[in-house]
Amino acid sequence: MKNIIWLVVAITLFITGCSDITSDEEKGSEQGNSQEETQKSTKNTADTNKNEPENGANDEEQPEEKQMDKKETTEPIYKVDEETSSVVPINEEGNEKIVLLTIDDAPDEHALNMANTLKDLEAGAIFFVNGHFLNTAENKKALQKIHDMGFAIGNHTYNHELLSDLPTEKQKEEIVSLNDKIENIIGERPQFFRAPHGKNTDYSNKLAGQEGMVTMNWTYGYDYFEPYMDAEKLTEAMVSGKGPEVDIPYSLLKPGANLLMHDREWTAKALPDIIEGLRAKGYEIVDPALIQTKE
Ligand SMILES: [Zn+2]
Repeated sequence: MKNIIWLVVAITLFITGCSDITSDEEKGSEQGNSQEETQKSTKNTADTNKNEPENGANDEEQPEEKQMDKKETTEPIYKVDEETSSVVPINEEGNEKIVLLTIDDAPDEHALNMANTLKDLEAGAIFFVNGHFLNTAENKKALQKIHDMGFAIGNHTYNHELLSDLPTEKQKEEIVSLNDKIENIIGERPQFFRAPHGKNTDYSNKLAGQEGMVTMNWTYGYDYFEPYMDAEKLTEAMVSGKGPEVDIPYSLLKPGANLLMHDREWTAKALPDIIEGLRAKGYEIVDPALIQTKE
């Protein structure tokens, strides 16, 4: 009997040890995305958060009543591959031929409009938000509405600064203060994290995990490259996966692709055609509620 108890203790310790090792390994593996080199070398305006926070105003406004169906708790059937940022099935219920839509630098001027488009077309998405967009009553209300419509809200840091330029204390503030702010507005903390420009640090990887968030980059996106700041050209690039004008003549559209878009005028305009075009190619737009989270 004693032997059996010791065996159970030993197995428990082994399993605990393994999970620690796994998360240590995960820390270092976020950088991969096939476009990164191109994005570094191509002059682009990625993630330029042009808007200054608008301080003051009347921040006290209460969120409107919940208007949309809240998702019931569902069992995850997908996960984000930590190395590639692709979304892959974890059981036979999952469809391989899916894509994930993500909208970064929200909620600026177009996020709510984009959420309405997505809702009309019954397409899910993650909105990665910044704290400096959440200083006005109007934008707080927009966030609340986007959440109430059933979209996932992700953390994209408070001020959209390059984390690798910041000391750890400041990185912590960039990440945790935004989670606090989001929770104050929608009553929930984000379950997904995306670093500005996809530049994670060992520290931010660890902290995002401790904050209960799954970290992801993306597999492709074109709306921040000058040649694709046009709805028609952007649609073609997003639906084909190709961006020949930024040296991507081959298609990055493949099962599990994690698509990066932004809160931008041309992207908002292109969104319906992007969704329909991807569906016409046989891709399902994945519901982020079906993606495995840390909690
Ligand atoms: Zn960004």
